[in-house]
Amino acid sequence: MSDPGFVTRFAPSPTGYLHRGHAFSALTAFEAARAAGGRCILRIEDIDRIRCRPEYEAAVYEDLAWLGLEWGTPVRRQSEHMADYGAALRELSERGLTYRCFRTRREIAEAIESAPHGALEAFHGAALPAEEEARRVEAGEPYAWRLSLAAAERALGGFGDLIFVEEGEGPGGEHGLIPARPEVGGDVVLARKDVGVAYHLAVVVDDALQGITQVIRGRDLFEATYVQRLLQALLALPTPAYRHHRLLTAPDGKRLAKRDRAQTLRELRGSGMTPRTLRGELGF
Ligand code: GLU
Repeated sequence: MSDPGFVTRFAPSPTGYLHRGHAFSALTAFEAARAAGGRCILRIEDIDRIRCRPEYEAAVYEDLAWLGLEWGTPVRRQSEHMADYGAALRELSERGLTYRCFRTRREIAEAIESAPHGALEAFHGAALPAEEEARRVEAGEPYAWRLSLAAAERALGGFGDLIFVEEGEGPGGEHGLIPARPEVGGDVVLARKDVGVAYHLAVVVDDALQGITQVIRGRDLFEATYVQRLLQALLALPTPAYRHHRLLTAPDGKRLAKRDRAQTLRELRGSGMTPRTLRGELGF
């Protein structure tokens, strides 16, 4: 059935060269759009100015074109839309749903470890007393903005209505109507100290702004959907359907990742592989 209203996206972060796993993800999204008679958008998630590099972004376009994919332009580059994310953060903050967190990574890890019964795997905190907060802001101490799950729960009267449709499969075989469990992720960072925004908020704002109806992405992001669903509810944004796909694994059974130097698409291309062969190998 042709559905021109079907809009999905491929949203790489240009922090390295794309590898087979990205090719699989991109092909899954673009082919789903083609099969549905809809479209697949390319979005560049480059809010992390330290880790993202222009040469990686240039390679994204080259690699995807080599794979035979076509996307609409202009491509949304998150780094050019910080004001949109800032507005969403302000809206949440004005409603008392966020707090400033001055803790370092190490302090966060320690807070989680010392939770009673080791019950917490995620950080849950609260705003500092107003005076101390004001003093530390004044002193120019860096802080991140975190979402307060406790405040969010009060605002929504509980998380019971946070449901999303999983059309693919989560890591535990989840499929169908899924209750979001934002407590799994804890009080996530909405704006990093160094960057001014963080992944979950940017993705939720963009998925809504770009009219995404189907989020197609790797299963490693299944749990991210919990807090993203919560942010949609808090910001009164529509909820797309989700389709998490399997992750490609290396011959040793581990998942492919940029950090393991999984063979990059440009290396494959350089070694004479054709896009047709790669598509075939990946099952397309
Ligand atoms: N930019 C993210 C990544 O490269 C993907 C985000 C998403 O699909 O929601 O892992």
